[in-house]
Amino acid sequence: MTIDADARTLPGERVSHYDLLGRRDTDYYAVFTDIPDADRAVWDRAKAFTDEVGTRMQGEWDAATYPVELVQRMGELELFTDGIEHPELPHTSPLAAGLVNMEVSRHDGSLATALAVQGGLALRTLALFGSPEQQRRWLKPLAEGTVLGAFALTEPDHGSDSVSLETTAVRTTDGWSLNGTKKWIGNGASGGITFVWARVDDDGADDHGKVRCFLVEQDTPGYAGTVITGKVSLRGIHQAHIAMDDLRLASDAVLPGSHTFKDASRVLYATRSGVAWSALGHATACYEIARTYATERMQFGRPLAAFQMVQERLAQMLDELTAMQLYCRRLADLEATGGLRPTQASLAKYHNARAARRVASIARDLLGGNGILLENGVMQHLADIEAIHTYEGTESVQALLLGRDITGMSAFV
Ligand SMILES: Cc1cc2nc3c(=O)[nH]c(=O)nc-3n(C[C@H](O)[C@H](O)[C@H](O)COP(=O)(O)OP(=O)(O)OC[C@H]3O[C@@H](n4cnc5c(N)ncnc54)[C@H](O)[C@@H]3O)c2cc1C
Repeated sequence: MTIDADARTLPGERVSHYDLLGRRDTDYYAVFTDIPDADRAVWDRAKAFTDEVGTRMQGEWDAATYPVELVQRMGELELFTDGIEHPELPHTSPLAAGLVNMEVSRHDGSLATALAVQGGLALRTLALFGSPEQQRRWLKPLAEGTVLGAFALTEPDHGSDSVSLETTAVRTTDGWSLNGTKKWIGNGASGGITFVWARVDDDGADDHGKVRCFLVEQDTPGYAGTVITGKVSLRGIHQAHIAMDDLRLASDAVLPGSHTFKDASRVLYATRSGVAWSALGHATACYEIARTYATERMQFGRPLAAFQMVQERLAQMLDELTAMQLYCRRLADLEATGGLRPTQASLAKYHNARAARRVASIARDLLGGNGILLENGVMQHLADIEAIHTYEGTESVQALLLGRDITGMSAFV
């Protein structure tokens, strides 16, 4: 008997036995029954978008390809505005923005991250800090998704301590020269624009040593964005490593409203709520898949759902999910009245990202071997949750922010 030399590359096939991905709209505590019509209309657009995408993202995730046309489609459907207040942008309430985040995450984490990067980070940065001229040129294309936007803060050596970033912006006779590297930048190699956070190096100037934001067109000489490969989370969106080597910019490339690192934090505080909603979307999908599977899968002559231990675990997941929904609804209410403190967003992110991890882990177990098949959804959500658990501030960083708030003592260093 010999080993078949072709065995390494045999084509194989997908064998599907269950149809688990249907939306169930779980809302045990009636948290979302009284959504105002205008917000529900935005939510419905997000649902229609995910229905339109169907199962396509499983293939993109598998192949690690980034379907930018789907990102553009979200722009066409006005899904990027993320509760940003600006006269030139269609108004979306914090509740509607949260529901969009939840719905797209329930469907696919890569598209939800694209939404967060394009709307939550890039568009918000421009809307908050851009000059009228910068906004005239770029606001609509970003909102409509015809240009992809990136937000470049993190560096290879500065993640949680991005406050210590080392990218420099030196004033030249006619503008700026940027030098440094960035890591993990969504849309950073998409051919669009990047908002680069850099430290001004101009001895004697008022802003010397301050962190400011620069609008960079990615085809500018000196900018090199390379897609990071080998990711096993959010495989359907590209993050880039960016190298800037004497990247020359005109003097009006700086966003005039950005003065210090606190401005970058202001963007991140806003998007932190989005991650709490996103975690809820992932957990909803995992719970609904597990519940459906438990009612359909027969073992020992009965559906799994008829066993006490399985019911206990479904109850545990529902408990987590309901708490996540309550956090999110309250977050939106606080945000709408202008009463949301950054650390309250931290608590929601802390709770929901941790809870989503637990729910996904139980769901994966309940599906047995079928839990590791891409077509059953759970494994992709479980892997994608790992990224949202880390970005917009890790669990430990949120705990440090909360700890400082409740004790008055900083334990960061
Ligand atoms: C998929 C993905 C997309 C991203 N997209 C973007 C983007 O578009 N733009 C952008 O600018 N950035 C982006 N990021 C970067 C992201 O914000 C960082 O990954 C995050 O801030 C954490 O930084 P780090 O990965 O360097 O981890 P580190 O900071 O090195 O942390 C490693 C571990 O140490 C812990 N730790 C760190 N400091 C402390 C401390 N003081 N006390 C206790 N524990 C500590 C952390 O909690 C973590 O568990 C993205 C990241 C990922 C994974």
